[in-house]
Amino acid sequence: MSRPRFRSSFVLACGLAVTLVGRLAACAPEPDAPAPTPAASATPAPTPEAAPTPTPAEPEFDRAAHSLDDPASIWVVSNKLRPLSPADWAPSDLDMPVDVENEFAQPLREPAARAAEALIGAAAEAGHTVRIISAYRDYATQVSLYGRYVERDGQDAADTYSARPGHSEHQTGLVIDLDDFGDCYLSACFGETPAGAWLGEHAAAHGFVVRYPAGKETVTGFTPEPWHFRYVGPELAQEMQRTGVATLEEFFGLPAAPGYAAAEG
Ligand SMILES: [Zn+2]
Repeated sequence: MSRPRFRSSFVLACGLAVTLVGRLAACAPEPDAPAPTPAASATPAPTPEAAPTPTPAEPEFDRAAHSLDDPASIWVVSNKLRPLSPADWAPSDLDMPVDVENEFAQPLREPAARAAEALIGAAAEAGHTVRIISAYRDYATQVSLYGRYVERDGQDAADTYSARPGHSEHQTGLVIDLDDFGDCYLSACFGETPAGAWLGEHAAAHGFVVRYPAGKETVTGFTPEPWHFRYVGPELAQEMQRTGVATLEEFFGLPAAPGYAAAEG
């Protein structure tokens, strides 16, 4: 009777051992489970490296990239308070735009000539036939033109629509007056023609701005001229369009120029 007692004791011990081992095994890592590694076990906590880095801001537009005073600069600002200096300055890179209608065969500075060709070509592709009706005018031409207007309308009236010699943007070689062969030749209604409206919207892509916009007479000193496009280069023209700043005076923080300085009257 002692053997069975021994056996049952043995079985009991084994059971305890198995139970104990089983418990120990249950506490041990599963053999097939991958060993925990820092990468696998760590929930992706934000770290300085992982934190989203702020998107770098658009580089600020460089308002000092070109001179506003040098008559040879594509950003020169000429108005009633800012005569070209010297007053009879003339460009040295005049060139004739090609493949465009140019009523008086007036040239432009080389970059403006190329840009005018591109703008007029793009207008044609959009279905608008546009021609140049004025471009570069030299100092002597402006003397005679302004003189004729003063004679006809008086100086006060002439000053609202024609620049005194030395103040004309046309003398920079960077300006085109455009027309669509319609009824709004050099008239405010040009802005409402399909061609004028298209030009007003797309000129900036080719580097031109409407220099004398409606509602800015007290800034520019001129009645609206939706036909008068000034080349400033696409960077500035598009920045002005993007920011909605309509005049060079406002964009560059220059004084408004509603009239000539008293000494010039
Ligand atoms: Zn003009």
